[in-house]
Amino acid sequence: MTSLNHTSQTFTLNTGAEIPAVGLGTWKSPPDLVRKAVCHAIQKGYRHIDTALNYQNEIEVGQGIRDSGVARDQLWVTTKLDNPWHHRVREGFEKSLGDLGIDYIDLYLVHFPCSTDPSDPSKHLPDWDFVKTWQEMQKLLDTGKVKNIGVSNFQIRHLETLLNDPSCKVVPAVNQIELHPANPSSKLLEYCRSKSIHCTAYSCLGGATDNPLFDEPVVSQIAAKTKKTPAQILLMWSLLRGSSIIPKSVTFSRIEENFDLDGWTLTKSEMEALSGIKTRFKVVNDSWMPIKVFFGDDE
Ligand code: NAP
Repeated sequence: MTSLNHTSQTFTLNTGAEIPAVGLGTWKSPPDLVRKAVCHAIQKGYRHIDTALNYQNEIEVGQGIRDSGVARDQLWVTTKLDNPWHHRVREGFEKSLGDLGIDYIDLYLVHFPCSTDPSDPSKHLPDWDFVKTWQEMQKLLDTGKVKNIGVSNFQIRHLETLLNDPSCKVVPAVNQIELHPANPSSKLLEYCRSKSIHCTAYSCLGGATDNPLFDEPVVSQIAAKTKKTPAQILLMWSLLRGSSIIPKSVTFSRIEENFDLDGWTLTKSEMEALSGIKTRFKVVNDSWMPIKVFFGDDE
């Protein structure tokens, strides 16, 4: 496998847009820390920031973007429609845009295929589903304020329903999903590839500093052999599977470590060894949502 300069690499979406391969995640990044983290990341070369209305830190993410001094048109900003806003797509979008303090979004995603009743989060909205949400998402493209639209946490069954519906005129550009060796979702990845839907890997480090992937013997052995860190090995595994990655950190040294991905690669046998990890876990579950979203059948 060739060693690329992954930090300047992009993936071409089905719209023709180029999404930077490496971005910074911001879920659970406290507002008082995320501003500096985003600024630091951009100044160190990150060109892709991932956020969401649900993360409740978009104001500070936007401040960090401006603090960096890097021009807006050099950056890629992804944000997401929160579940209780599915029947108010335009309002949810404008809220993110206003909080971020920018005048367009590069990629706007439906966060989950679940339309939650805002007056009672334990209930699904009556007479609504993600197909209707997508109809509203498509209308956003006419505003000129969003360059690409996509989905997140969509399983094959959701994508099949969406793509087969006559109202679906725009194929999602991206499906942002949980991907790491303990949740490889190879079937879903392959399905998306067959439909020209790019996948962004979230929780690609395993979601926490103390997660079992960092202690997997295969990961440690390859890290020692290549003189890289376990985190870098996990990131490279996802990149080489053709996914963009959005590792989250508010720690300056880790933000830099996670961006040290140029000029090296993993061999075919190292990739296979990592793909052979048998540990299984998911970082994100659906127990807090009114409907089931994950069915464990896209492995
Ligand atoms: P992640 O990026 O896999 O892991 C983040 C955790 O790892 C944090 O605790 C971070 O700690 C730590 N960490 C970061 N770099 C490290 C390193 N080099 N060595 C050791 N520990 C390190 O998990 P994630 O936040 O779940 O996923 C990444 C991003 O994907 C999110 O922030 C969010 O933007 C997106 N996401 C999207 C969805 C969705 O539904 N679409 C769901 C989950 C995540 P510190 O911050 O303390 O450094």
